[in-house]
Amino acid sequence: MVRILVVEDEAVLARALRRGLQAEGFAVDLAADGETGLEAALEGDHDVVVLDLMLPQRSGLEILHEMRRAEIWTPVLVLSAKDSDDDVTRGLDVGADDYLAKPFAFTVLVARLRALLRRGAPPRPAVLEAGRLTLDPATREARLDGRAVELTTRETALLEHLMRRPGEVLTKVELRDHVWDAAGDDLNVVEVYVGYLRRKLGKGAIDTVRGSGYRVVGR
Ligand code: CA
Repeated sequence: MVRILVVEDEAVLARALRRGLQAEGFAVDLAADGETGLEAALEGDHDVVVLDLMLPQRSGLEILHEMRRAEIWTPVLVLSAKDSDDDVTRGLDVGADDYLAKPFAFTVLVARLRALLRRGAPPRPAVLEAGRLTLDPATREARLDGRAVELTTRETALLEHLMRRPGEVLTKVELRDHVWDAAGDDLNVVEVYVGYLRRKLGKGAIDTVRGSGYRVVGR
């Protein structure tokens, strides 16, 4: 039986989720605060985790961060009323697999969970490598030739997206949609941030492929 961990401190919503998910044939464990949620998540015996961000004791982001640091790759769907761009990016930065803003339709949640369950929990490399660069998405630590480089959240997200596919050309549209999560944003924002990264990592860190997009040099 598929086992789902729901970490949610709003009792009414948590109970409704349990009832609904059980009716869909899932086994459901509830955790009502961050500490309990973290303990349950670290046991690693769930197939998927539904994780609220704003929780007492430990935030959802802390839980996610600790899970990934412990190399627990259970898919995580972040659930939150906070829908600012930064929280989403931060959640995806520390290893969330999907994101749903409250209020949401239960059927949408179930569809997303089923999609995550189909994908399973492929082990992800703890540290990404491309050429002279390394990036640990969990700690957001970037290194160039072994030397630590300070990056902002957004710079880290952009670099991570490029480094997950070394040698591949990624278009500006694709980068904007994944890293900024707001299709309305100007494409210039991608250029600007590529510029920031080059300033910190050296001109050669990211190639411009004229008319197509950007890529980081492969291994
Ligand atoms: Ca909450």
